[in-house]
Amino acid sequence: MSNIAERRRRGSFVHAASRIVLFAGCLGAVFSAAAQDHFNPKGAPASRHTAELQEALRESLPFEDTRDFDESRRGFIAAPDSKQILGAQGNVVWDMGRYDFLLGGEQFDTMHPSLQRQATLNMNFGLYEVVPDFIYQVRGFDLANMTLIRGETGWILFDVLLSSETAAAALKLANEQLGELPVKAVVYSHSHIDHFGGVLGVTSPEEVNRGDVAVFAPIGFMEEAISENVYAGNSMTRRAGFQYGRVMPSSPFGQVDSAIGKGLSAGSTGLIPPTVVVTDRFEEHVIDGVRIVFQNTPGTEAPAEMNAWFPDKKVFWAAENITATIHNIYTLRGALVRDALAWSKQINTALYEFGLDAEVMISSHNWPRWGNARIQEVMRTQRDAYANLNNQVLNLANQGVTINEIHNEYQVPPSLQQKWSARQYHGSEFHNARAVINRYLGYWDGNPATLAPLSPLGQPSSRLGGF
Ligand SMILES: [Zn+2]
Repeated sequence: MSNIAERRRRGSFVHAASRIVLFAGCLGAVFSAAAQDHFNPKGAPASRHTAELQEALRESLPFEDTRDFDESRRGFIAAPDSKQILGAQGNVVWDMGRYDFLLGGEQFDTMHPSLQRQATLNMNFGLYEVVPDFIYQVRGFDLANMTLIRGETGWILFDVLLSSETAAAALKLANEQLGELPVKAVVYSHSHIDHFGGVLGVTSPEEVNRGDVAVFAPIGFMEEAISENVYAGNSMTRRAGFQYGRVMPSSPFGQVDSAIGKGLSAGSTGLIPPTVVVTDRFEEHVIDGVRIVFQNTPGTEAPAEMNAWFPDKKVFWAAENITATIHNIYTLRGALVRDALAWSKQINTALYEFGLDAEVMISSHNWPRWGNARIQEVMRTQRDAYANLNNQVLNLANQGVTINEIHNEYQVPPSLQQKWSARQYHGSEFHNARAVINRYLGYWDGNPATLAPLSPLGQPSSRLGGF
């Protein structure tokens, strides 16, 4: 078998297995009539073939590297008694208990072992100390984390979750455990709603208008927040349901994780516009006595996003630019295709501005990293993964590989395959590879017969005669 044919066969094989939990179930729930013969909502055991494939994957991945587990558990302070967060009407807004099946240590053949590992790591639930007397995180209360910085007189909150109910519950837990403090500032790291939507759970427009609470955001925040959530909002919301398996039950046969967290909360969302917009490439502020250097990183995970550096404590906040997964270049809910090369370059800038000195790295999803060598390892790994994706896909495209073939041609270099922080839970290499071609060359593969494809139900285009 030729190299390319062999890679093609192996590629589609592994892709199919790794995504079976998210996609098969998701589509099955919605297109139940068509899929009824294949999709069992109560779940079915893996076939012998799938079980053998999973076993082989357990042998080939670096499971002996358990540093992520140490880091994700470090600094645990407390969790609330209930795993549910309720809305005003008693409705369940968030329920970590639905994932308890992951806590028993059982290996499920219906899950790709690497995905199961990530899903288990994301079982963080409660309040964690990151830097003593300074930085804390509430994790497992929503898709993202809430990070709390202790200022001179109150809390500086970095990202405030998706729903006001989960944000209020996170702040309440911190105040109960650490002593009640007023909120002095909110920082939106970027223009995605899982980072600002819960703001009304931690402050109010009145407090902000009075000047009691400052709200910081990167340049372009309001424009991008509106364009992403309003212009194509209905469609994007519907598609997010597919992407995150929102209507699926959680089980070893259903929805198990969302890579950057467990899933989306189902509460009420809001937005208070920023009172301070960070406009320069690097911009230093003192917020409630805490010195912070912001780094605008446009063109990365969001069009408006910023990192932050706490020089007095050597802490680097990586926003959603560096998490514990390779991210989406094309996000399946729908968004403008992102720029993998710009993303890589922004990580490189952060590495040389802050990463060479950093002793702690935190971000708005997953868990922190401690120690400079570890931080540099993760930063360099993700920088190289995005750069390789961009450059190698373009190299293949220039040799004639089209958008409809690239996902079976592009492969992550072996050195990166063995790094957990370069594994592709959120942004898979096959859909990201297509995204790079789409960004530079568009969706057309160059074949005249595919320029106006048949609609899914088979109708020919009625527009073709209109020249
Ligand atoms: Zn996010």
